[in-house]
Amino acid sequence: MGSAKRILVAGNWKMNGLREEGVALAGALASRAKTPAAADILICPPATLLSACADVLAGSAVALGAQDCHAQPKGAFTGDISAKMLTDAGCSHVILGHSERRALHGETSAQVCAKAKAALGAGLVAIICVGETEAQSDAGEGPAVVAEQLQGSVPVDGTAETIIIAYEPVWAIGTGRTPSLADIDRMHAHIRTVLSGILNDGAAVRILYGGSVKASNAAEILARPVVDGALVGGASLVADEFWAIVQAAPAL
Ligand code: PEP
Repeated sequence: MGSAKRILVAGNWKMNGLREEGVALAGALASRAKTPAAADILICPPATLLSACADVLAGSAVALGAQDCHAQPKGAFTGDISAKMLTDAGCSHVILGHSERRALHGETSAQVCAKAKAALGAGLVAIICVGETEAQSDAGEGPAVVAEQLQGSVPVDGTAETIIIAYEPVWAIGTGRTPSLADIDRMHAHIRTVLSGILNDGAAVRILYGGSVKASNAAEILARPVVDGALVGGASLVADEFWAIVQAAPAL
């Protein structure tokens, strides 16, 4: 049994990929996606590859997303990229508040919320990431940390069409470790409850799990009724591995 919502498998390439390999990977996925899959498919390459990937993905079942955007529409923000620029480059989605940005760039939930508002204003779907560190988890603070991140990061005018949540325990990202299925169940149910207090249609928002999802564990994770998809880092860089995750999605 899987989620009542259509599964989304999203690949976060992070800061990986030069033009030749990135375009080849996007092309390989676009061509596999000619066979209908049980999941919606999204790739989020680095900003330098968005336009080239948009060309390769045009007309395919693979959607294109970015990994961050600025909260302002334009101006003197050297090195930053606005939400409208992402739409202009062919994106439909943007990942916001990834733990690497929260930790390495000091992004606060208020900043993530401002970026999410900008994304919605530009017609993008915002994939808002939340998750506790290992120390917070060990201290039993995971649910409170995640609730606080949700309350601070999710714009109240978001809807199930414009907001996706990715639950990514920081200690599971890139480590090969994952929470138990029971822990994933508990945290996703908690996120659903918190979200329903923030958004009118919080019950309908997709909640993805992220953190060391790979071909070998995707089926059991995606089969949990509370899991509406996966945000995949490392395993999204290899076409066969990512495609195996897409194929692990249970049919509705
Ligand atoms: C991520 O960074 O969003 C992620 C889930 O990474 P990985 O799959 O490599 O753990």
